[in-house]
Amino acid sequence: GDSLKKRKIAVLGSRSVGKSSLVKQFIENHFVESYYPTIESTFSKSVTYKGVEYDCHIIDTAGQDEYSPLNSQHAIGIHGYVLVYSITSRNSFNMIQIVYDKIVDFCGVSDIPCVVVGSKADLQQRFVIHVLTATLSSSRQVDASEGEKLAQANKAAWIETSAKNAFTDASMSTGKVFELCLAEIEKRTSPTQTE
Ligand code: GDP
Repeated sequence: GDSLKKRKIAVLGSRSVGKSSLVKQFIENHFVESYYPTIESTFSKSVTYKGVEYDCHIIDTAGQDEYSPLNSQHAIGIHGYVLVYSITSRNSFNMIQIVYDKIVDFCGVSDIPCVVVGSKADLQQRFVIHVLTATLSSSRQVDASEGEKLAQANKAAWIETSAKNAFTDASMSTGKVFELCLAEIEKRTSPTQTE
């Protein structure tokens, strides 16, 4: 077989949850505070996971809402999904199931290779530090247990991460997000398939 396996991964979720920041941190290892709404961009990175080298094509989308129909380019030829919500936005969390269901409907399958990502996990830390001064504006709205439960119900992986703070804990790194996604893809790929 090929030494380099191509995997197309689409990053979906509400606007401003940190999709571009997550991808940027993963690809370029840096964080930008300012907000530039994304049209759509594709990035490539080779990732070695379990001794196999994958040529990952990551599609950073503009963002979805409950009314946007699923873009066929975000379903056809896509191997796996990264569905992002912000832990500071209940609305963005509610969007995850909506987007998930749209993909499943479009693809006509029972489940899809997917990792549900709670982004901006650093803001919880800020909350803890500032709790005495009552800085509540950027506090957590979605508990970790809720994210985990939603992912489980959809047979998806789940992780909380931050594009801003490079966590010393590798289990919360942006790299881990894409590793989990590859794992979900490989779970559903039979060994006889070459691509
Ligand atoms: P997108 O529209 O989903 O692609 O969101 P962006 O990546 O453009 O991020 C939206 C805003 O949230 C920007 O101002 C970012 O700086 C900020 N942001 C993104 N990720 C994080 C994060 O992990 N932590 C914090 N504190 N802010 C973030």
